[in-house]
This record gives sequence, C-alpha cells and structure tokens, in this order.
Amino acid sequence: MPGLYIVATPIGNLGDISARAAATLASANVIAAEDTRVTAKLLSHLGLRVPMTPYHDHSDERTRAALVARMEREVVVLVSDAGTPLISDPGYKLVRDARAAGRHVTTLPGPCAAIAAITLSGLPSDRFLFAGFLPNKAKARADTIAEFAALRSTLVFYESGPRLSAALGALAEGLGNREAAVAREISKLYEECATGTLADLAARYADAPPKGEIVIVVGPPGEESAGEADSATIDAALRAAMAD
Ligand code: SAM
Repeated sequence: MPGLYIVATPIGNLGDISARAAATLASANVIAAEDTRVTAKLLSHLGLRVPMTPYHDHSDERTRAALVARMEREVVVLVSDAGTPLISDPGYKLVRDARAAGRHVTTLPGPCAAIAAITLSGLPSDRFLFAGFLPNKAKARADTIAEFAALRSTLVFYESGPRLSAALGALAEGLGNREAAVAREISKLYEECATGTLADLAARYADAPPKGEIVIVVGPPGEESAGEADSATIDAALRAAMAD
C-alpha cells in the first residue's frame, strides 16, 4: 500500500532489525534517510539495493512536498541513522505534512535508546519524561533542568561522553542527589549500565569521560540521598557542572 512508513532501525546490534522492517525496506520505492551513507551500511547488511534520498533537519518544504507527492502512489520509508525516527531525530514535519495531505501513515516500532535505557536502569518505569539532549551552555542547561525538578517522574536524557560528568553534576545540583543510571553502548559489544547517585556518577566520570553513546536515566524525587553523599563527592559534582 502506498504511503509513509516510519521504520525503526538498530541502535547498535544489526541483528535487532525486525523481519517486518527488513521486508518494508525491501519493498520501498524510496528510503528517506537522515544520512544515506549510514543507511547504506544497513541495506548492505540486509543484501538490499533500494533508492535513497536524504531527509534531515535542514530539509526544506520543497523536499518534503516532493516526498509527500510520491506517497500517493509509492512506498516512502523514513529512517534515521539509528533507532526510532523522530525521537531526537528528523521526521515530525514530514509526518505532519503527510497527514495533512491525507496520505497513509504507519510506523514499524523497534529499537529506541531511551526505552532500552529505562529497561536497564532499575529505576521506576511506570511514569517517565523523555527530555532529549540538554542544552550545551551551563545557564540554559540549569534552566532546563529546573523545569523538570517538580515532576514526579523518572527523567531520561541523551548525552555524549565529553559532556557526561558536567551534565550529571548539573542534574545533581538542580534535582537533588537522586538515584540515576548511565546506560552506554546499548546492544553493542561494550554495553554497560552504571548505577548510583547523580553525585557518585558525576565523580566517577569526571576524570575519565567514557566513549560511545550514552543515556542518563534519573529516578523520581523522594529518593535523593544527599544526606548520605560525602561533601567531597558533592563538591566534585558541582565542580564538574561548572567546568564548561
Ligand atoms: N532516534 C534514536 C533513538 O530512537 O534512540 C536517538 C537518536 S539521537 C540523535 C542519538 C542519541 O541516542 C545518542 O547521542 C545517545 O544519547 C542515544 N543513543 C543512541 N544509540 C545508543 C546506544 N546504543 N546506547 C546508548 N545510547 C544511545
């Protein structure tokens, strides 16, 4: 059936591609890919040759209109570099425009780093807020964190290794010293999930920024252990937060 197919792809382990995702990629008239070079590797792993066109955050209205026009008679597949399209990735405007034009829109659910990290963390999973990437600059980051402080939910952030310790320190400062988890390289060879308080984790990564892709999961309020963390650990976390 013609339309827009939103297809989740692996976040590390190529074996995580679903049978339906592979069949849908094979049946596509065109794959709209965040980075065609990245998706080419997945297609080669699957033994597929399918036409691709770039679709990313900077794609303009004309590019979207052309894709929406094709959806009337063709299967257009949207993928991002890894995981679920639209989740800290391009795509929502394309879905919006496809819907406005009355096109068939469907999704093939699959890997998503945020969901995978929650399942690894051991933190409450009944209620969570996905907060994406924190701002780079310390003031904007602190302001954003302050918006989440009163929420009685687990919080999920995407992060990179070099910024990790500073982000953990800022979270400790803005939210209190809550229980947290740092999930790294999920589904890859060196997958790990470190747990502890925010201040402990900030101190742990202060001198050795980890490599690879990272998700921070922070537990809800009410389980802070500020009273138990020693002042040196809190100081280290605060120094990390101020460092950039
Ligand atoms: N759309 C993707 C998804 O569904 O998870 C997320 C795309 S976002 C641009 C990329 C970020 O997701 C990375 O910087 C990292 O924070 C997180 N991420 C992606 N793959 C990961 C993995 N294998 N392990 C841990 N975090 C990962």
